[in-house]
Amino acid sequence: MLKGFYNSSELDFTIPENKEAMLKAFEQVDKEKGNDYPLIIGGERIMTEEKIFSFSPSTKEQLGAVSSCSQELADRAIRTAHNAFLSWRTTPVEERICCVRRLVELMKQNRFLLDAWSIEESGKNWGEADGELCEALDFFNSYIMHMRELDKGLELMDTDEAVKCIYIPIGVGVAVPPWNFPLSLLAGMVVSAVITGNTIVCKPSSDTPIVAYKFIELCEKAGFPAGVINFIPGSGSVIGDYIVKHPLTRFVNFTGSKEVGLRISRMASEVSEGQKWIKRVVAEMGGKNAIIVDSSADLKRAAAGIANSAFSFQGQKCSACSRAVVLSDVYDAFVEEIAACAKDLQAHQGSGREDLPMGPVINKSAFDRISHYIEIARNEGTIVCGGGFDDSKGFYIEPTVVRDVAKNAVIAKEEIFGPVLAVIRAESFDEALEIANNTEYGLTGSVYTEDRAHIQKAKEEFHVGNLYFNRKSTGAVVLQHPFGGFNMSGTDAKTGTRDYLTNFLNLKSICEDLTY
Ligand code: NAP
Repeated sequence: MLKGFYNSSELDFTIPENKEAMLKAFEQVDKEKGNDYPLIIGGERIMTEEKIFSFSPSTKEQLGAVSSCSQELADRAIRTAHNAFLSWRTTPVEERICCVRRLVELMKQNRFLLDAWSIEESGKNWGEADGELCEALDFFNSYIMHMRELDKGLELMDTDEAVKCIYIPIGVGVAVPPWNFPLSLLAGMVVSAVITGNTIVCKPSSDTPIVAYKFIELCEKAGFPAGVINFIPGSGSVIGDYIVKHPLTRFVNFTGSKEVGLRISRMASEVSEGQKWIKRVVAEMGGKNAIIVDSSADLKRAAAGIANSAFSFQGQKCSACSRAVVLSDVYDAFVEEIAACAKDLQAHQGSGREDLPMGPVINKSAFDRISHYIEIARNEGTIVCGGGFDDSKGFYIEPTVVRDVAKNAVIAKEEIFGPVLAVIRAESFDEALEIANNTEYGLTGSVYTEDRAHIQKAKEEFHVGNLYFNRKSTGAVVLQHPFGGFNMSGTDAKTGTRDYLTNFLNLKSICEDLTY
């Protein structure tokens, strides 16, 4: 089944040609700075008076202005997508796949520019940005492979009736991605919808609308017919409820915070006037991920893995580690190791283009929220590294390690979504598992151990959608680590898989009596 699929490789920026190409892409970004971007509805570009302004988190510089969609225009987008669905749903699968294959090629051709915009708008470093582009390509290639299989329908029993059971698309979807993977998550939502024969209305995050626009432009070039993919940037608080509740919306594909995800789930369950179906909601949400370190673990390796999980992209990954749960007899030694790792990583202030291990957090409200949690941390434990923050130039927060945090402390329970790690002590492996599971979330987890019995116990009892051993909790690779969370982390969508695509399909069972 997986024959022929391969994961894309990240660019090596130590190779001079790659570095050179990246610097050239930044020059192009500079030329494009200050541009105005439209909505795209049914292929028509629409400029609105109301704008969303995109800012660099590294420097606070304004990068561009994007038209902001009203409820009226959102209605037009959904109706346009509904009309396009009537022909797209019967477009042969191989034709849809051709569009996606052209998109893959266009993404490769525009790789450096997409990376550069992602770095500029989200504050990622080069490797993180290119890794995200690779993830998007992997999503596309996996969905091509799965769609070909799904197109065969279900295998059924032979009888004297002619029977078949086929997958059919369901209608207009609404894609609502977050800012932290502004390319791969948005692109995965769009392509999974349209390769299955649905049409989509995409509302990007208000923090990263330019990367989103660049991607949608490539979709147009790839040949998706007008109306199949519509682009409506707009504030979640202005059009969010409207597009979720719209009677022609058939499904919502959301990734973001628990609060918004639960709201969408609630809104989508109410039947609007004229609505003929129960809406489907895919909602992937937050996490409060733990990594356990037991007495048998290689502490240097554990500290390096945990520092990477907690602080890469400034801790702004849903899979980031925010709790290290460490057995008592190795606790002090581990704290020394993790503090040393964190000290090596500084939140470097700069233009955002220097390709450093750590950069800024996304915006002023994230900066305020995270620095507030650091103030709480001062009362809930001892800060052994970091604790500083500075928003004079951009939104910079030091990688922060807090020791002696109680298992029920605020910083041990709430998602901070920034570079703050709580180190919690456990007296036994059973207690460590109990602490790790002591959260409403269930996204990722990891255990550093050389004890096979502990590995077996964690496999059975550590309740998370993505469980790892002796490795970091971030960096899930498509079709190696299908991704999706339990409990309040979401609907366990497992992106990249064949199962994921069935969220956007109905199975139609057809039978003809041959004796008639
Ligand atoms: P967010 O505030 O929930 O926003 C996510 C998206 O929802 C944005 O496009 C936002 O638009 C939109 N939105 C806001 N209010 C809405 C409403 N009432 N109806 C419909 N849409 C609405 O989350 P975020 O800050 O972008 O992302 C960070 C969160 O995402 C963290 O909790 C993180 O753990 C989670 N996350 C989870 C995964 C996963 O796979 N589980 C992956 C990545 C991130 P505006 O930007 O216009 O407000």
